[in-house]
Amino acid sequence: MPSPRERLVPVVARRSAGDWVSQFADQVIARAAARPPGEPIVCASGLSPSGPIHLGNLREVMTPHLVADEIRRRGHECVHLVSWDDYDRFRKVPTGVDASWAEHVGKPLSLVPAPPGSAYDSWAEHFKAPMQSALDELGIEVRGVSQTEQYTSGAYRKQILLAMREREKIDAVLGRYRTRATPSATQRLPTDADDAEAARVAAEGSGAASEDDGAAAGGYFPYKPYCSFCQRDLTTVTGYDDDTTALSYTCACGHAETVLLSEHDRGKLVWKVDWPMRWAYERVDFEPSGVDHTSPGSSFVVGGQIIEEVFGAQQPIGPMYAFVGISGMAKMSSSRGGVPIPSDALRIMEAPLLRWLYARRKPPQSFTIAFDQEIQRLYDEWDALGRKIATGSAGEAESIAYGRAVRTAKGPLPSTPRPLPYRMLASIVDITTGHDEQVLRILRQVDVDDPVTSLEQTQPRLGKAAHWVRTQVPAEQRTHVREEPDAELLASLGATERESLALLLAGLEEHWSLEGLTTLLYGVPKQQAGLPPDVTPTPELKAAQRSFFVLLYRLLLGSDTGPRLPTLLLALGSDQMRRLLGG
Ligand SMILES: [Zn+2]
Repeated sequence: MPSPRERLVPVVARRSAGDWVSQFADQVIARAAARPPGEPIVCASGLSPSGPIHLGNLREVMTPHLVADEIRRRGHECVHLVSWDDYDRFRKVPTGVDASWAEHVGKPLSLVPAPPGSAYDSWAEHFKAPMQSALDELGIEVRGVSQTEQYTSGAYRKQILLAMREREKIDAVLGRYRTRATPSATQRLPTDADDAEAARVAAEGSGAASEDDGAAAGGYFPYKPYCSFCQRDLTTVTGYDDDTTALSYTCACGHAETVLLSEHDRGKLVWKVDWPMRWAYERVDFEPSGVDHTSPGSSFVVGGQIIEEVFGAQQPIGPMYAFVGISGMAKMSSSRGGVPIPSDALRIMEAPLLRWLYARRKPPQSFTIAFDQEIQRLYDEWDALGRKIATGSAGEAESIAYGRAVRTAKGPLPSTPRPLPYRMLASIVDITTGHDEQVLRILRQVDVDDPVTSLEQTQPRLGKAAHWVRTQVPAEQRTHVREEPDAELLASLGATERESLALLLAGLEEHWSLEGLTTLLYGVPKQQAGLPPDVTPTPELKAAQRSFFVLLYRLLLGSDTGPRLPTLLLALGSDQMRRLLGG
């Protein structure tokens, strides 16, 4: 007889046990069972809008999202908090931004003006906005928490006073690690300079691993005020009275004052205390962290001691996640010095595909998101999996990952009604230079029995493939169809070659579809060798087919290679083919 709790769990969700997401969901639900009834389970992420939020940082959100989503699928209420670290200091003026922004270094990110030309009021809002829209497109439902709002509204006052009262204890915890060297982001061995920059940006993404921990010559204080005169954090706490909460500080600008911390709300706890404070305040059950936060002395390890010893709560379940690399992001498409953000990935791939990359890999496994030719192979793999799912021949692990990619607890994500191969769409866009009428003309002919009737049916995939061709395929890899026939080459052809072209042109009308042209192209050399259409290819036949294809590429493109020939022929149309092939 199942317990009442078990009976509430939908059978479908319970059967999908086994993957890493499900295992963490089990742990989180078990941990949360101890709390008062009616309180939702809390999964959390932290993001710093100190600059473009790197695509590599998406794992900070995707990992708890997948776990929160599994928890919701099982019928539990679960909140996914995204803590926007917009009350962190503005650390430096990035290249490309006017040097006059230097006067804002040390201010909270929410008080720094947005980069020139932005539609947003502040630096923080400017960099939050594209991330928020990417989360929406990915079906990631979060509750955003602005740390500026939290700190300046006095929400953390009790916790700040507690941390100040317990400053010696905190200092002692931090002291256990201060003499040890902390590893740097570069230990993750990025492969080239771009990756090194990406790694640095990713490492700085959530919380400042290198931020000072509050130690100073005049004593240890875990709270740092922003100066009431210049708004910067170039301040030093010079004294604190536990009884009255009077806090005195001086600032590099010359300002000095004494405030009552029981009323003051312009300052924040140092990062290594701030993080565990928020775990306790929000009752976080699950929050992962990047590799750089999980070594000895890192904020996750230190935070675990501070939350127990100072805030009297338990550290969340917090797996380490590995670095996510980017391959082949073309320089021409980035206005941000080679730092792709999640929206850049969503311009070239559909949301379910991007979700799948995260769902199928355990957090400690690193992987690469392809902006280069590899994306075509990835899409082939994704479509093949879709076909296996449709026919019921996919394995359990594959099916679970696919399910997490295409839908959330709320329902399915938008999909492309006619998901034609990405590789083919990219070729068609490439050959037609994206001309809508021509693209539709070709798409209609792909499957004559069930023709595409509007471009809409192939969206959003077509648009993503078109954007990929425009921004990621280098000019020398684009397809250029010959304007005039290659008279010299045509004149030099032998009898067999002439015959192959004649057989091809003669069969065009009868075979005018993607499948038909495929059969025709492979069939011409068979016919010439006197073989039946269904013959098993011998090495000799394969060699004859290869030379026939190279001949066609040379005559049509002036090159030895090109997009798949059936797609190319459909795109060219029979008139242009006849002209270039001397027919
Ligand atoms: Zn000042």
